[in-house]
Amino acid sequence: MHFTETVYRNPYWPTFPLLQITQGCTHNSCKFCTMYRNVSFKVQPMEWIEEDLRELSTLVPDATTIQLLSANPLCMTYDKLAPILEKINRYLPKMEYIYAATRVTDIQNKTVEQLKALKEMGMREISLGVESGDDWTLDRVNKGYHASDIVEQCGKLTEAGVDFWMTFLKGVAGREHSMDHAIHSAEIFSQCDPMLVGTGGLVLFPGTPLLEEAEKGEFTPLSEKEMLVELKAFVERDRTRRHGSPGCNPKKQEDTVIKAKFNRMVDLPDVLPNESALH
Ligand code: SF4
Repeated sequence: MHFTETVYRNPYWPTFPLLQITQGCTHNSCKFCTMYRNVSFKVQPMEWIEEDLRELSTLVPDATTIQLLSANPLCMTYDKLAPILEKINRYLPKMEYIYAATRVTDIQNKTVEQLKALKEMGMREISLGVESGDDWTLDRVNKGYHASDIVEQCGKLTEAGVDFWMTFLKGVAGREHSMDHAIHSAEIFSQCDPMLVGTGGLVLFPGTPLLEEAEKGEFTPLSEKEMLVELKAFVERDRTRRHGSPGCNPKKQEDTVIKAKFNRMVDLPDVLPNESALH
């Protein structure tokens, strides 16, 4: 198999088989991320992709799922992506789900009809690392899109019938902007129709611009308790009511235990400081 650094697979989808079709990240400049910092973006050579599929067809001929790598493999235009999906189906004819994590902006270069066609080829479920629906925050961490883009591109996915997760990144706005991040994200996420809204907490990794800013006093990280206050503010206002851990599907299973646990955030009693502490 032709895997190149950095290899990151989404742990909530089946871990095998994986197929790398791109290297690195087309954006590569979010202020909190160093994951692909030293990797130039490239599309894997088609010969590599075909060799890998040939290998997988002998190892797992009955595979029904596959996860595409690397950071945002769906950045390719339909004309480049469709032949790869066609090859996956040819080499692994029982394929049902072709999973991929990707950026909101990667949907822009595809029409709804093209998204429908990709879905027919197996692209039924994807994950969007949205992080925030607040324009100030998106600009602050250089995500490379705005709230209106999120609504527009997620609307296309919904129209095409492609299921998608959205992530809310706790702490990414810093202390001063925490509540705006929570409230505006809830407003924007509520205008979308995700199968699931997941969350993670910001970690200031060495080498990131955001850590440098924090060290200079220009960014104030949240404590773990403050992250929970922020998450609670978000969950209370987000009308999708599809909160959960990836791996469950609140859209299809309205009563999952995981969803219930996540939603119970709104009932967290007095252990948390009031949101006004972050206003
Ligand atoms: S889009 Fe994702 S992988 Fe790329 S720089 Fe931003 S967080 Fe990192």
